[in-house]
Amino acid sequence: MHLVTFERRASDDGRRPAEGERVGAMGDAALGLESLDSLTVGARRLGAVLGEGSHAGDVVDLNRALAIKLACDDVGAPEAEADSLLPTDARVFLRRLPGSLDSARAALDFVQDALERYDAPDVLRAGVVEARARVRLCAPVPRPGKIVGVVGHYPAAGGAGGGEPVLFLKAPSAVIGPEDEIRLPEAGGQVDFEGELAVVIGLPARRVGEGAALSHVAGYCAANDLSVRGYRQAGGQHFIGSSCDGFAPLGPALVTADEIPDPQALAIRSAVSGEPMQSGRTKEMPFPVARIVAFASRLMTLEPGDVLLCGAPAGAGESRVPPRYLRDGDLVEVEVEGVGRLRNYVRGSATGW
Ligand code: MG
Repeated sequence: MHLVTFERRASDDGRRPAEGERVGAMGDAALGLESLDSLTVGARRLGAVLGEGSHAGDVVDLNRALAIKLACDDVGAPEAEADSLLPTDARVFLRRLPGSLDSARAALDFVQDALERYDAPDVLRAGVVEARARVRLCAPVPRPGKIVGVVGHYPAAGGAGGGEPVLFLKAPSAVIGPEDEIRLPEAGGQVDFEGELAVVIGLPARRVGEGAALSHVAGYCAANDLSVRGYRQAGGQHFIGSSCDGFAPLGPALVTADEIPDPQALAIRSAVSGEPMQSGRTKEMPFPVARIVAFASRLMTLEPGDVLLCGAPAGAGESRVPPRYLRDGDLVEVEVEGVGRLRNYVRGSATGW
């Protein structure tokens, strides 16, 4: 399943809705449901992207779909039950695994079945399926508990796999979504990008072995580990240099682990304004995902919604001759095979460069 966090956009005519205006829920009364304040423009909801059929790419509001399914099944207080089973906040959803994912699958199956019937519009009118253009995608985990990064590029010079990963923390407030802009910090500096595989923790992991580590993973995203190079290199300021606002684009979806049976078998690449930059395969990572999870979990409890950035394939900006740092107007793209493509425009002045 491709899980997303999304917000409904304003109506098609471009009119800005009033604060709190509800959209797309005309079927409420017919289904005997209460009106939901959460079906408003700008409210963050958990969704799943439809993969095939005439609605491919559209987004299912999972909590809403489950409420309607429960109403159709004559379950009492369907909305309250849906809120309990299938929270709309990604971190709360992840804390309630595996039950919440089972509910998400049931909700998605319900919608897919309904869409195959000729009376599908009832589902659409109830604010359950939103056209892709009608929603704004946020980061699939908008505010992780913590972001743990792995220092280094792959394949590592002179062979890989020895020693232990060097980790750093990145501020959770640096996360932005697939439709947000990367703002160059006013403080200046040379801003570099690193397209990486991101791992989202599902079940708490504390002192887990490598063999069990992947069972604690909820899924995977594409990520961009941005940094101000000067801060990073002068005195090893990895935290400061990596934690500016907007320095952790994440998305476009959280692809659940069942769809990625082997995270070491993925192609990963990046481009800046159409020019290919990084290109590699995750099998070249010096520390496979399972070892990173196991190692980090010996030092700290990894909690649902924590994000691990697994290091970057070679070819990022600083390593190039001449270096290619980000500039106002650039488009940075990171694509991970089977996971998706993350695209962010860069904005900001070159003051102080
Ligand atoms: Mg990195």
